[in-house]
Amino acid sequence: MTATSSESTGIPAPRTTEDAAPRTAWFQAVPFFLVHAAPLAALVVTVTWTDWVLCGVLYAVRMFAITGGYHRYFSHRSYKTGRVPQFLMAVVGTTAVQKGPLWWAGHHRIHHRFTDVDGDVHSPRDGFWWSHVGWILSTKYKATDVDSIKDFAAFPELRLVDRFHLVGPLALAAACFLIGGWGGLVIGFCLSTVLLWHATFFVNSLAHVLGRRRYATPDTSRNSLFIALVTGGEGWHNNHHYLPASVRQGLAWWEFDPTWYTLRALAALGIVRDLRLPPARLLEQARVRDGAFDIGMFRAYWERAARLAGDRIADLSARPVAVSVEVADALADTATAAPADAADAVALERSALTGLIARALESADQLAVSTRRSRKGATPVVRDADPADPVVE
Ligand SMILES: [Zn+2]
Ligand SMILES: [Zn+2]
Repeated sequence: MTATSSESTGIPAPRTTEDAAPRTAWFQAVPFFLVHAAPLAALVVTVTWTDWVLCGVLYAVRMFAITGGYHRYFSHRSYKTGRVPQFLMAVVGTTAVQKGPLWWAGHHRIHHRFTDVDGDVHSPRDGFWWSHVGWILSTKYKATDVDSIKDFAAFPELRLVDRFHLVGPLALAAACFLIGGWGGLVIGFCLSTVLLWHATFFVNSLAHVLGRRRYATPDTSRNSLFIALVTGGEGWHNNHHYLPASVRQGLAWWEFDPTWYTLRALAALGIVRDLRLPPARLLEQARVRDGAFDIGMFRAYWERAARLAGDRIADLSARPVAVSVEVADALADTATAAPADAADAVALERSALTGLIARALESADQLAVSTRRSRKGATPVVRDADPADPVVE
């Protein structure tokens, strides 16, 4: 949400009381829990193999609509397609019951902009439940953040699909009932929907907790085969945070990514085009030894904090200040606290990393205040530094 960031700089603003304790819209969440309970009805209604096939097919097709459509197309524009396939993808996407394409992609873009720092809509630093499902059920993110998705919001038909996003799921539920009766509804529709939800939500929760890291990204994203298996290739989340515009997320041949295979087939059929792939040099750059932890994450985090802090100072000060002594000190403290031992690092990782940005921004704020004061009198103590290399001794 742009409400959580400074209008002019895009830097996350300090948390407010509302941010700290967003409310869950329990009453509006009732249908969500009912769909979870519905498959239990299979104990009393007749379920045929057709219903199980329906369940499997609806899982696979709707998963692709989310991964290939909502995620890789609407959120990241990692390939191109015509207006009609774009519309169809949006409509099929709504049947996955994850709201409209503009709502979904708008919030996802915010996640990439503020990953694991204030402003992230679903960072696991706010707790597993929050990142998994809490943020969806909260009152905080109900509205579509049109500012983040202006490009697609320009299409009136997409705005319509986004607004009436419940029409698709209701029509699909009715169709399942017509095909398989109660069995079709509770297994074909409800069970596949529940599985689809949690597999997708794993990408927001587990993919920032579980797995290994290949690239030094300034966030906690990880690569996980398990999540790739259940989401059709979205488990290579560290790859994805490193190269968000890449249509392909499984970068090694063995990194199972059926969404990419399907998009390649659709490209061969001429339905989609211009699949974006990363240049070879980027694949080796920022690469760290595959593992659960990398010291590069500290460094990348550190640099990002310095950049944010430098931006904030530059924004608030009329002088071209990059990194102040105070900010550099705060950053250096954290950096020297970086543990050498990998096991300690894993334990310290969460608190150290999340505390880092907060401290840097806090220092930047303090400096901004003293800069304003000192403009009237003495010159503030500042040194110029390259924001990309914030080491100031
Ligand atoms: Zn992520
Ligand atoms: Zn993404």
